[in-house]
Amino acid sequence: MNETITTKTTAIEAHIIRGRLEAEGIPAFIAFEHHIWANWTLSNALGGVRIQVVSSKKDEAINVISRIEHGEFQKELEREIEYTEKHNCPVCNNDMVTNVNWSWKLAFLSLFFLTIPIPYFQNQLKCTKCNHSWKAHKSAYSVSVKAFMVSFFGGLLLILLAAWYFWCRLNCPIARFI
Ligand SMILES: [Zn+2]
Repeated sequence: MNETITTKTTAIEAHIIRGRLEAEGIPAFIAFEHHIWANWTLSNALGGVRIQVVSSKKDEAINVISRIEHGEFQKELEREIEYTEKHNCPVCNNDMVTNVNWSWKLAFLSLFFLTIPIPYFQNQLKCTKCNHSWKAHKSAYSVSVKAFMVSFFGGLLLILLAAWYFWCRLNCPIARFI
């Protein structure tokens, strides 16, 4: 007989859990998903999407779910990604490090002053635990990607300036004789 081991608000979350359970060799089933696909706002009222396993695999499945909740599989995944693999935080030696490629603040500033968001490549690594950030030795983007971005945004800026110049020649009273 199948037993419900956990419930999720959306069917997508439930299927992610089911996939992990099956990858660990535990056959899992999703129940009560279809009325929540149809109207997900009713999910809480209907008790959520149930993830079920056969009774004999219940303890094993609960153990896998607790490993998911403790971020064990996330760490495994991040170790597989080459870029985060080799780095540990120099301050707290934490191995959960994220890659910051360009600054949102600078993009917003350029959006405000130039009306286009220009990304600024900074290649920094950031510790997820103590928020310490430091310079990465290896670039996250190849030179060709950078060259493309620079020429794309440069071209866009030129087109905007040209459009503004011609518009102004036709419409601005002061610039009529330029
Ligand atoms: Zn740290």
